[in-house]
Amino acid sequence: MTQDNDNTNPTHSAFARSWVASANVEGCDFPIQNLPFAVFRRKGTDEAFRGGVAIGDQVVDLAQVALTNCLDGLAQQAAQACAQPALNDFFAMGPKAWTALRHGLFELLEKAFYGAKVDALRECLIPQEDIEFTVPARIGDYTDFYTSLDHAMNIGVMMRPDDPITSNFKWIPIAYHGRVSSIGVSGQKYRRPMGQYMAPGATAPVYGPCTRLDYELELGIYIGQGNAQGEPIALKDAEKHVFGICLLNDWSARDIQFWEMAPLGPFLGKNFCTTISPWIVTMEALEPYRQAWTRPETDPQPLAYLEDVGNRANGAIDISLEVLLESDKLRAEGKGPARLSGTSFKHQYWSVAQMVTHHTMGGCNLQSGDLLGSGTISGPGEGQAGAMIELACGGSKPVSLGNGETRGFLQDGDAVILRCWCEKLGFARIGFGESKGTVLRAIGG
Ligand code: MN
Repeated sequence: MTQDNDNTNPTHSAFARSWVASANVEGCDFPIQNLPFAVFRRKGTDEAFRGGVAIGDQVVDLAQVALTNCLDGLAQQAAQACAQPALNDFFAMGPKAWTALRHGLFELLEKAFYGAKVDALRECLIPQEDIEFTVPARIGDYTDFYTSLDHAMNIGVMMRPDDPITSNFKWIPIAYHGRVSSIGVSGQKYRRPMGQYMAPGATAPVYGPCTRLDYELELGIYIGQGNAQGEPIALKDAEKHVFGICLLNDWSARDIQFWEMAPLGPFLGKNFCTTISPWIVTMEALEPYRQAWTRPETDPQPLAYLEDVGNRANGAIDISLEVLLESDKLRAEGKGPARLSGTSFKHQYWSVAQMVTHHTMGGCNLQSGDLLGSGTISGPGEGQAGAMIELACGGSKPVSLGNGETRGFLQDGDAVILRCWCEKLGFARIGFGESKGTVLRAIGG
């Protein structure tokens, strides 16, 4: 059963409209209720990258906003912090500053409000078709979780048929520390990794281009304010440390990964590329789509440090997600990408807050701009898996692209597109844009 929470405010009103007409078009990812953040510059220029907020098909240039003085007080200070090539300083200002800037921009962008400040803000708009993005924060550390029970079951059956769900899964949000240097924004292209793997039935490993290249549908969670080393974050406070959420594709070389990961975990099978969406949807924008976090009564209930009434009441978030694949052939035929699967983040076994708290429980300090991957998001139903290895049963049942092509794993030229959005009766639909990445032929492959 879901329950409405009372943390919504006028910026969530379904009736709010903007004078930026494209924001009011049905199905637009960026209505005035969303206001997600990115770091951008004009395409093909050497302008400095700076923060921006999406409204309809435009971006509000926050460096320009900071110069115009159309905002006041904390909102103005926050805009100044966003006038940099990374949002870390803005993240570090904390929830009051994030809210002040959101509400300040909302007021100026709302249709009902006119005046000199609105005229000034109008001068700060740049069409999104004219901009390019970069990674929006200096990500100090990246941690990738493993919090979908359905994904763990689908993968576990392939890796350990006798014991698919390891006994720790239902007690701790499992994760590994990942690689930051190869994280890129949507539009990223990368070479199929070379590596060492054991082919099925072989007695010795070989070195060559990955033959089982895969994607993972995930969300990325940005840490806003960190914690001091040795001072864990309590579960009830965990979400105050989260700035917002983006899409994340944890590209995975399954042959390399499965050969190397026992007993220490993923390494070269994961570290060659991770593609995120440029826009970060704030936790405040996500408020209307919160749901109760539940745990089956027959499962172990969380230990006390992972238990909280607030997390029970609204720790889950209903974010609809989908994966699409665009092959060279589909592109040549002028057809759109093929939809591979769809699910919701609400099915995850562990919540965002539980990931944050568990991460810090031993004394680890999170820092502003750190990124947590949710882990592959797979739902309980048919066609809801968030990785191709699950959809295609390890490559044995290739999936159809609807044009005569099939895929057991990814081929060169394939682009994988992740999309997600939130919708709920009585509230606006908000979207995250997309994360698109393309596989190129292996170096020397
Ligand atoms: Mn992953």
